[in-house]
Amino acid sequence: MDAKAAYDEKNREYTPVIELVNICKSYHVGDMDVPILKSIDLKVMPGEFVAIMGPSGSGKSTLMNMIGCLDRPNCGQVLLMGKDVDTLSDPELAKLRGMEIGFVFQNFNLVPRLTTLQNVELPTYANKKAGVDTRKKAKELVEMVGLKDRMNYKPSEMSGGQQQRVAIARALINDPSLILADEPTGNLDSKTGDEIMKIFSNLHEKGRTIVMITHDPDLTEYADRVVHLKDGIIDNN
Ligand code: ADP
Ligand code: MG
Repeated sequence: MDAKAAYDEKNREYTPVIELVNICKSYHVGDMDVPILKSIDLKVMPGEFVAIMGPSGSGKSTLMNMIGCLDRPNCGQVLLMGKDVDTLSDPELAKLRGMEIGFVFQNFNLVPRLTTLQNVELPTYANKKAGVDTRKKAKELVEMVGLKDRMNYKPSEMSGGQQQRVAIARALINDPSLILADEPTGNLDSKTGDEIMKIFSNLHEKGRTIVMITHDPDLTEYADRVVHLKDGIIDNN
């Protein structure tokens, strides 16, 4: 979605890309309910780059799964591009997830038997955009992430940093409003991690909205804003 399209003329404000209202989430373990997220409020505006930090086990991935609608909260509201996701049907939700959100994970999550180009094209199989030359676009994105000479390689034939570049190109193929990245440099050495962060930084400069989980304080310099998750709440101090 074009960020400009979300401008509300009447109220003279932009619609947040993400709005979380009083989110809570617990996991049922044995006969116990273990609360992980207790009361989360978060707004992310178009074009923002927000880093979410917190110790291991603090619920960062759980929070990301709520934002990306990969899982549902036990209470509270998730609004994406101003739409309450609870009001959407399963196919509508699948479409929103496929077209409006680009996911990047710590473990790259590429399909081993597919080449770079095929992995990048994968999200277009379920949601085809009319009039878009998918192959051309995939090639452009692969070039953009610096893998022009690796178009036909399989993931196992590439380094971790190269695989993460493929994952970033894949996340962009449907031109999503939002990029969600869960510790995208977590499995990379620091030099390779910096190169990946530069790609995110460029995307941000071009106006993409990015929410990135990290536990590396050095990486937060790339973000506009850092949000700290601790004991199930967002602590801005
Ligand atoms: P982080 O990403 O910050 O390391 P997670 O969101 O992965 O943390 O996990 C937060 C807590 O929730 C951890 O204690 C973890 O063990 C627990 N947890 C995560 N997923 C599940 C699950 N599906 N069932 C039960 N507990 C879970
Ligand atoms: Mg995690």
